[in-house]
Amino acid sequence: MNKLWIGTNWKMTKGIADGLTYTKELKRISEKLSTSIELFIIPSYTALVPIKEEVRHSRIHLGAQNMHWENEGAFTGEISPKMLKEIGIDIVELGHSERRQYYNENDRDINKKVHAGLHYGFTPLVCIGENIEQKNNNISKETLAMQLKVCLKDLTKEQADKVMVAYEPVWAIGEKGTPADPEYVAHIHRFIRQTLVEMFGEAGYKVILLFGGSVSKHNFLDYINSQDVNGLFIGRAAWNTKSFEEILTKL
Ligand code: PEP
Repeated sequence: MNKLWIGTNWKMTKGIADGLTYTKELKRISEKLSTSIELFIIPSYTALVPIKEEVRHSRIHLGAQNMHWENEGAFTGEISPKMLKEIGIDIVELGHSERRQYYNENDRDINKKVHAGLHYGFTPLVCIGENIEQKNNNISKETLAMQLKVCLKDLTKEQADKVMVAYEPVWAIGEKGTPADPEYVAHIHRFIRQTLVEMFGEAGYKVILLFGGSVSKHNFLDYINSQDVNGLFIGRAAWNTKSFEEILTKL
């Protein structure tokens, strides 16, 4: 059975109380979902510990929104893989466009984080995507290929198929974003798959590819029907369990 990975990054929204209410409700919803769905949530750091307890015996995987690559040291404000291991997270999200845009995160640093995440047994969820200028200059593919090649540099084939990649065109994300044309998404996902196969051979077929950017109850089926889309990475439309439920129960 082909698995569908569906998850949400809460960004800087819910704290502990709201996060726990959401998670309890999502657990209830998850019990009636098809077993082909792999569900994950990526809360804020402060909510990770209590939410880990809440999801412990559920089918919900837990992720963190970022991570430093070092175990420990003089890196004020950073969270290490060792600290996240202690909590027991499953997934570490790396290179979201907001981190790239506001905190100057670059592909080389993301690569170090990918290696550290794999070392600690996490699934790195690597976000890539072109911005509107790159799209308008017809360099979307070049941009994505470079992001993939640098972010996943020096991974063995065995490591490559433990990584998830989220294609999130920057121009499609958030309130000001324009939802992408499903045909464009299918075309780009095919290109990402080909690039991964060129890089890692057969293992490239096993990399889970998610699509994200203004996914909603109105358009999710158009995206999920493409061969190389293995799941969805959802922001706003999944922050409320009722609207998330409308998507999840139709998959
Ligand atoms: C995102 O920021 O990764 C995202 C997918 O957000 P939204 O669905 O709200 O566009």
